[in-house]
Formats: sequence, C-alpha cells, structure tokens
Amino acid sequence: MRHSLHITNRCNLRCFYCYEDDKDTSSFIPYVATVPEALQRAENMIVHGAHSIEIIGGEPLLYPDIVQKVLETFSTRCSFCITTNGMINNEQIEHILMRFSPTVHVSVDDPVTTHRFRRGSDLNRILQHAHTWSMLTDVTIHNVLHPHNFQHMQESFVFYVRHHGFKTLGFGVVEEWMSPFYWKKYIEGGKEVIDMMTEKEMRSVHISPWAEYAPFDKEIIYSHGGKVELEEIFHPVDTDDSPYGLSKRELAGYYKERRNALLHTGG
Ligand code: SF4
Repeated sequence: MRHSLHITNRCNLRCFYCYEDDKDTSSFIPYVATVPEALQRAENMIVHGAHSIEIIGGEPLLYPDIVQKVLETFSTRCSFCITTNGMINNEQIEHILMRFSPTVHVSVDDPVTTHRFRRGSDLNRILQHAHTWSMLTDVTIHNVLHPHNFQHMQESFVFYVRHHGFKTLGFGVVEEWMSPFYWKKYIEGGKEVIDMMTEKEMRSVHISPWAEYAPFDKEIIYSHGGKVELEEIFHPVDTDDSPYGLSKRELAGYYKERRNALLHTGG
C-alpha cells in the first residue's frame, strides 16, 4: 500500500489548479507538521502496512529538517518519494537525496504553458535542480495536465525526454477540471505521444502511469482538531471505473500494444 504524508500546505508557488486552499485568502490556515507529528504519522502508516510513503505538500522542501528526520528514522523500513515543484535546492537537500535515495517527483507543466499556470515557477531553474538531483537519485518529471495543455503533450515528450534526457516522464491530470470532452482529448494526446515513441525509447523510457498502470482506490483522511492534516491511502483494487481510471486503462492498453508491435518487429 502506498500512503501520502502531507507535511505542509505552505508553498512557494501559486498554481492556478492548486489542490490546496487558496493561499492568498484570509480563509487559508497555514499548516506545518511538527517533527514529532510527522514521525508519528509515518510510524502509523508503516504499522498499517505502508510499503511506500510519498512526502507531499504544499512544497515539502520548504521544510528539509522534517523530511530529513522522517527519512533518517524510517528509510530502512519503507521506500520514500518526495513530490516537489523543483524550485528549491540547497546543500541539505542534496545531502538528503545522496544519503537516503528517495525517488524525487518533480511537478511541472508542459514547456509551453508552465509560466502561465504555475505562477512563480522558473522552468530553467527547475530543470537545473532536476538534473543535479538525477545524479544523486531517481528523478521523475511529472507533467501536470489540464484542459489548457493537452495539445502540448507531444512537445512535453520531446522536451523532457529527447531534449533533456529524463528517463521517466509521468502525465497526471487535474481531475476537477475535466469533462467527457477533455477526457477524450487526454486519450488522443496520450496516443499521439505513444505513437511517436521509437523502439529504443520503448526500451529505455518509462511513461507513467501508462507503462505500469494498476488501478487503486484513494482514501483521503482530513482531521481538523486545531490542526489541518491530510493523509492519502492508495488501496490496490481490481478495477477503477472512474473517468480517469477508464482513460488510464485505455492508454495502458494502447501503450502495451505499441510496445509489443515495436519490440517484436523492431519497427
Ligand atoms: S506547486 Fe503544488 S502545492 Fe504549490 S501551488 Fe503548485 S499545485 Fe499547489
């Protein structure tokens, strides 16, 4: 089972599609876990069967001391990944990655619209950090998709994989912004990316989630007892019949067919 450990809702960016409360309004209640709280919650997750914990925010690398303490305490009992917007790097962060090797998921948009939708981001700086981190641990570039950028999926593949040499590219969708029309666009865009992959890329590049799609059920726990807390638990299930689940399944099937055709024919 995979769990998400949410250590803060604070962030250095202001993305339009942010899943956190609007940080610029008076209703926003900033939350940062204390180190004992973060450790207790990670311990609970492991006791309840977590084999993998994703550390999320907000921006978790605003608080490298919390991340470091969690990894120091639990990295021998569980695998970890850190989901970050990639804007912050320093010696302490590099030390954490070198010492504990958590996977790093760097969230970006496509190279054309990033500056419009991820307010405050700087793609050059993010890529510089991602390249540095990829010398220390596994790095996934995670392209956030929404109705304004499905048409740029091929450009993303060319830019992040062919131009920048990243070997794992993930496409994730802002579900709240979707409609049947846009799910169709997502599937079309996904198929165009899969169609442009060469045999060599099929062997060496991992496109997530289509390459390894396995359905899951997501349970979200919030607790507002004077603090804000969020924890996500991903339970493996036989099928996920939500629009996102069905779309991912269709693309996973298409990916598999294309991979089989390319690897069997050498085409
Ligand atoms: S980087 Fe993530 S947490 Fe920060 S504003 Fe963007 S979507 Fe929200």
